[in-house]
Amino acid sequence: MKIICVGLNYRKHAMEMSRSLPPEPVVFLKPDSSILRNNKPFFLPGFSSMIQYEAEIVVKINRLGKGIDVKFARRYYDEITIGIDITARDIQNRNAASGLPWELSKCFDGAAPLGSFIPVTEIPDVENIDFSLEKNGETVQKASTSDMIFSIDQIISYVSGFFTLKTGDLIFTGTPAGVGPLSRNDHLTGRIGDRILLDMMIK
Ligand code: MG
Repeated sequence: MKIICVGLNYRKHAMEMSRSLPPEPVVFLKPDSSILRNNKPFFLPGFSSMIQYEAEIVVKINRLGKGIDVKFARRYYDEITIGIDITARDIQNRNAASGLPWELSKCFDGAAPLGSFIPVTEIPDVENIDFSLEKNGETVQKASTSDMIFSIDQIISYVSGFFTLKTGDLIFTGTPAGVGPLSRNDHLTGRIGDRILLDMMIK
């Protein structure tokens, strides 16, 4: 399986990163070895001194698809959760400044913690999902998928023009404003609506 991620998909986050709004989705991949499940702790790696959280809505692809029309994209995922696109911001900034790839900053072990998936049928409107991240009991990110520049269906359509989507593939749909640093013993709690789907420690 593959993990497809979208960057700069919320205006306020692009502003906080001092980046212009992308005319098309900004897409990158993570390997399956970056997945962390079951609220396992994330261990801070020694190669970075600036590890940051990015809370994102994640959808799970449930059938094979390529060249999917936006109007049929909803049929291609049936589960959703909140995940964290953990980023070594120092490495990302350094590589981006030199025009080098981002992989080392986004693809390390544990860089994709996943909450528990819930059926999309339990979500009244996927284009208006409230989600939030708490760090040590304080809300640090809070947004709605209605704030996305490219909707979930538009992302599925776009990326399926480049990659065949397969059952079990995951799509991280971008983070809203409020990204920030992670330190040892931080406690992260991710919610969709009022439901806690992710509850993990940084070690
Ligand atoms: Mg991200």
